[in-house]
Amino acid sequence: MILAVSDLKNPPSPARAYRGRFAPSPTGPLHAGSLVAALGSWLDARAHQGQWLLRIEDIDTPRSVSGAAQQIEAQLQACGLQWDDKPVWQSKRQETYQKALNQLIAQDQLYPCNCSRQTIAKALEALGIETERHQDLVYPGSCRGKRGLKDEILGSAWRIALPQHCTIEFEDRALGHQIQNLNQEVGDFVLRRSDGLFTYQLAVVVDDAEQAITHVVRGEDLLSNTARQIYLQRVFHYPTPEYLHLPLVLDEFGEKLSKQTLASAIDTSTPAAALEALEQAATHLGLQVLGMQKFHSASEFLVAATNAWKDQYC
Ligand code: GLU
Repeated sequence: MILAVSDLKNPPSPARAYRGRFAPSPTGPLHAGSLVAALGSWLDARAHQGQWLLRIEDIDTPRSVSGAAQQIEAQLQACGLQWDDKPVWQSKRQETYQKALNQLIAQDQLYPCNCSRQTIAKALEALGIETERHQDLVYPGSCRGKRGLKDEILGSAWRIALPQHCTIEFEDRALGHQIQNLNQEVGDFVLRRSDGLFTYQLAVVVDDAEQAITHVVRGEDLLSNTARQIYLQRVFHYPTPEYLHLPLVLDEFGEKLSKQTLASAIDTSTPAAALEALEQAATHLGLQVLGMQKFHSASEFLVAATNAWKDQYC
């Protein structure tokens, strides 16, 4: 039996020491957009005198580029953005994700699903719901009847069965009150894909909890994932971190910088180049740190930027 979303409350959490993180997917080197997320999360951690952890999100192994994680680490270090503990690699955590999945299977929260994108599009069409070509499809629940099955069917994905009314609300520290109706906007979502890969939603929730992350600071492109993550945290009885989503860096066509839009790597080949990259990222964050002041090193700049961050975001 599935609980209503109102029955799912995060456990009361005693005040926890600040722990933030930067969680890049190693699909390429850091570009201006990912540096903004790295800098914002680092400044927030330092402004709170907290820990800043690095997690390499290489769960989607076919998309990961060999050597990219090492390149990202080197770029962060060149910018003076040092992390506090050993980086966590998602590709090494399959067993943990499987355990989390098994827990939900045992609770009848999941069901195996063999629908292809085409089947889903057809089911939506039959329901009179129009979908655009590249749009994420709201899963209409075609395989829900298989809820309670404990074994996967060959080649099936695992989806979570949402309660009938599943609206998640949360406060974003920058964007204010957020609300998403998961039934209407997402549908039962996938936690393990049919090719056996665990999804970002499952891995990020399990890892944020296991690393005791209290504050998530990341790009606004991830905002629409947050309600799903909060829902999963409630199902697992994990605490929910605070969220702050940062403005995206767009290219000249108004597209988010990414590997797909051929964003170029930030230049950290010299201390001056790294400092300039940091200054640009801080300007994008609207930090009043530059003024007439001239900085001579990344570390000197980061001290001033941390103070500017406190004024603006804390
Ligand atoms: N790995 C994700 C990305 O690079 C970020 C995940 C997160 O910060 O939650 O877009």
